[in-house]
Amino acid sequence: MKEGRIIKVSGPLVVAEGMEEANVYDVVEVSDNKLIGEIIEMRGDKASIQVYEETTGIGPGDVVITTGSPLSIELGPGMLEQMFDGIQRPLLKIQEAVGDFLLKGVSVPALDREKKWQFTPTVQVGEEVEPGKVIGTVQETEIVLHKIMVPNGIYGKIVDIKEGEFTVEKTICSIETENGVRELNMIQKWPVRKGRPYLRKLNPVKPLITGQRIIDTFFAVTKGGTAAIPGPFGSGKTVIQHQLAKWADAEVVVYVGCGERGNEMTDVLMEFPEIIDPKTGQSLMKRTVLIANTSNMPVAAREASIYTGITIAEYFRDMGYSVALMADSTSRWAEALREMSGRLEEMPGDEGYPAYLSSRIAEFYERAGLVECLGNGEEGALTVIGAVSPPGGDISEPVSQSTLRIAKVFWGLDYALSYRRHFPAINWLNSYSLYQAKMDKYKEEEIDKDFPKFRIEAMALLQEEAKLQEIVRLVGRDSLSELDQLKLEITKSLREDFLQQNAFHEVDTYCSLPKQFKMLKLILSFYDEAQRGLKEGVYLNEILALPAREKITRAKNISEKELDSFDKIEEEVKEAVSKLIAEGGKPNA
Ligand code: ADP
Ligand code: MG
Repeated sequence: MKEGRIIKVSGPLVVAEGMEEANVYDVVEVSDNKLIGEIIEMRGDKASIQVYEETTGIGPGDVVITTGSPLSIELGPGMLEQMFDGIQRPLLKIQEAVGDFLLKGVSVPALDREKKWQFTPTVQVGEEVEPGKVIGTVQETEIVLHKIMVPNGIYGKIVDIKEGEFTVEKTICSIETENGVRELNMIQKWPVRKGRPYLRKLNPVKPLITGQRIIDTFFAVTKGGTAAIPGPFGSGKTVIQHQLAKWADAEVVVYVGCGERGNEMTDVLMEFPEIIDPKTGQSLMKRTVLIANTSNMPVAAREASIYTGITIAEYFRDMGYSVALMADSTSRWAEALREMSGRLEEMPGDEGYPAYLSSRIAEFYERAGLVECLGNGEEGALTVIGAVSPPGGDISEPVSQSTLRIAKVFWGLDYALSYRRHFPAINWLNSYSLYQAKMDKYKEEEIDKDFPKFRIEAMALLQEEAKLQEIVRLVGRDSLSELDQLKLEITKSLREDFLQQNAFHEVDTYCSLPKQFKMLKLILSFYDEAQRGLKEGVYLNEILALPAREKITRAKNISEKELDSFDKIEEEVKEAVSKLIAEGGKPNA
């Protein structure tokens, strides 16, 4: 292949001439260091290349060679428990090989070439197969069974299938196709900018249970749904994403750290192996793939990291798994797009972002979904949850707006709440989930028929609170009726005893749906009992002074194994209120 020559270097953008044989989106090797880049624009024989590594030290005259193929990654056993960079270089392995700093052009294969996997076939010689069909399995980690699937475009009859221990490059299966025999190993390649195919999209109906009360109870996301978390610096985006990666009931988690602080990824690396998933009794890393393109790494690779992450997620979805992808933060990706667009001197749109920003964001979220998988009859789900960091927290900016147009769930983080240390700082008055009706149905059938009723009642109270507080501000608390004063006490309890959840508390960090229901029921039954007392002439102060209230405050730390305690507290409240009534109410009157 003919070599091109660099004529200009501008940060991560390199322009080369003599590239007439190349195409847009081809991966190229830049200079003798073989830096990896991708062509993002062609004009005549001139290619504009976004380079995924530091471009210092390269300059005009250096060679550029196109590989003739688009940016692709390797899919196969060996991705779980790994941390990759934006173009799927295994960071931990590179660190072992060359130390902390990514050397230019270091080439270490994404999937370990030496490791042997026990391959168990699931098809027999003579069987007709098509793309997506599972030909065998590898127990990749204790909790994830990796299904080896027929790659795209291959149809035919199995003529040989092996069983035993193999490295990923060893042939395990031969298929007779129209164009001769194809030998398969355990690696598939896939161009990251292209969504992997599926049979059809289905309507997502099950919640992705996250163990975070405000999310599951009020603004749930489905398995296969999309959610956005916009919020200013310090409002808790990263903590929420980490919580979801830890606790969401997905079978595989892909966590993309995109342009955020490097030590946050180190935290994940240190912390996750230590956390034992209660459902499987295994370390959380056993189901996790990390993609890191932190703030100290080249800007252009942020763009790729989003696509690399979602392609890996789709691949596990194709096996019929429920996969969750978290991206923190998509704003840094959009900023990388803006930077490249600026260097290409494209016509800027809103706030300097390219005109195609919206469509790129939409294309990314549209890769989420519940699907019927190709070739194996399974259903797979890919849930996508993206953090957005609008400058100053103002969500009227283009990245937030484009995201909100497409994501079905909005968890709006609020600076005022985080300032008051109300965490998670999700604003319950402006957040929403467009999946609400389906989620209510699920909770009604699976948890308790009253769950939706309580959710609606609690939210109505919280909405009324804002109005009552306004009155208190204007004319003082004493002007409120006892019932309205009680309401304010209940909404305070809803906020502090239910919505607030400490990610760093051993018990509180995760709250099951049954416990969420019991907590909500407890607070609302106190409300009912208090109203009963008021009607019977008991003073509000007496009701509020009941010792059981203290127990409601501490209820969030009741262990999942002792959910009966909630019923006992409820009973206690009932009895205490009855006693106050029996004592004749207003004793001071
Ligand atoms: P962001 O990513 O939006 O900049 P972080 O996720 O880093 O913000 O959160 C900032 C700080 O807020 C955390 O270091 C932590 O102290 C606090 N915080 C956020 N969410 C929670 C939570 N659910 N529980 C306890 N503390 C939290
Ligand atoms: Mg953060």
